[in-house]
Amino acid sequence: DHGLAEADPDVRAIIDKEKQRQFRSLELIASENFTSRAVMEAVGSCLTNKYSEGLPGKRYYGGNEYIDELEILCQERALAAFHLDGKNWGVNVQPLSGSPANFEVYTALLNPHDRIMGLDLPHGGHLSHGFMTPKRRVSGTSIYFESMPYRLDESTGLVDYDMLEKTALLFRPKLIIAGASAYPRDFDYPRMRKIADAVGAFLMMDMAHISGLVAANVVADPFDYCDIVTTTTHKSLRGPRGGMIFFKKDRVLGVDLESAINNAVFPGLQGGPHNHTIGGLAVCLKYAHSPEFDAYQRQVVSNCRAFASRLIELGYKPVSGGSDNHLVLVDLRPLGLDGARVEKILDMASITLNKNSSALVPGGIRIGTPAMTTRGFAEKEFIATADLIHEGVQISLEAKQAVSGTKLQDFMKFIKSPEFPLLDQVSH
Ligand code: PLP
Repeated sequence: DHGLAEADPDVRAIIDKEKQRQFRSLELIASENFTSRAVMEAVGSCLTNKYSEGLPGKRYYGGNEYIDELEILCQERALAAFHLDGKNWGVNVQPLSGSPANFEVYTALLNPHDRIMGLDLPHGGHLSHGFMTPKRRVSGTSIYFESMPYRLDESTGLVDYDMLEKTALLFRPKLIIAGASAYPRDFDYPRMRKIADAVGAFLMMDMAHISGLVAANVVADPFDYCDIVTTTTHKSLRGPRGGMIFFKKDRVLGVDLESAINNAVFPGLQGGPHNHTIGGLAVCLKYAHSPEFDAYQRQVVSNCRAFASRLIELGYKPVSGGSDNHLVLVDLRPLGLDGARVEKILDMASITLNKNSSALVPGGIRIGTPAMTTRGFAEKEFIATADLIHEGVQISLEAKQAVSGTKLQDFMKFIKSPEFPLLDQVSH
């Protein structure tokens, strides 16, 4: 049995290149982070060899005594990390990732073609909350369920709760989803609870982006108001790629959430759990219940505020005027620029961020602080990062003016050509 370098030098070389890329760049993608060596050790372990369909104590395969011990430990740590021990909540730690976790909730609570309302993707929501365009139902969620998105008030950049309420009273959804991929503010859970109760809907929070911040109590707690809370495990929580579903153990709207969720995960939509991920997640959750983790999350938020303030000093207008969490959205349209071009230029300078996840109007960029905070950045370094981004924006403007043609491909061709006078400056 050989190690990777000997068994497959091609894959080893690609992993090494990716590792160098990760360490060379300023990683500002809001949904990414660097997990720990301990988590990666568990993920890269013999746990990947084992089949364990079912739940602890109720498996369809033999030989699961240690896997049962692991999954129970992971569940206990998940409840402890989110301050739910002793409360009437349970958790399923088997979802393979965030999108499957969400679809499992829909399968558990709804019948095909039942109605749902989530934040529209161009306004910061996630695909799995029911995205569709006027021409096409893009997400599986909008194919199998009837989706009526709610939106932001464009003048404030905040969720338009009045509009959500009015639409919900007409549309009468069975499920309302809080949570987002690109929203720099907290959700108003009490208001959303009131709206859900007025129309007899379940209220779910997808806290994927902010779960680390929730665990550290630096943002509002969705568990006080929601029936179900889903999350990915690899963003601010800093674990392995995976998902979790938390559910109230009560019957809600006549549904036993615990058995509905567990059955939707398996056998509804999944087979064997990824035990190596559950192992890595257990390691991550032990750390997520520590004072060091709380300090890290406070630093994530403080860095984000310092970063947003510096951008404002430089003349930018962050969406909603700033940030309460780990990300800032910058609208570049007032400069006559778009996020895609800035993303490409900054990529050449090893600064990794993404154009605002708005698929329809890629008008800006989304910048998050969790990953570089893991790498030790504090406020001072984020202020310097804002200055570097500003430089990148200036260079993007110059390149845009110099390029002939308006297509992104023309722009890309130009900035990669020797004709681009700033090539050296960008890629130093
Ligand atoms: N939910 C939200 C709010 C997200 O931002 C994301 C991913 O970015 C997901 C769900 C999906 O997670 P995954 O990519 O693990 O399917």
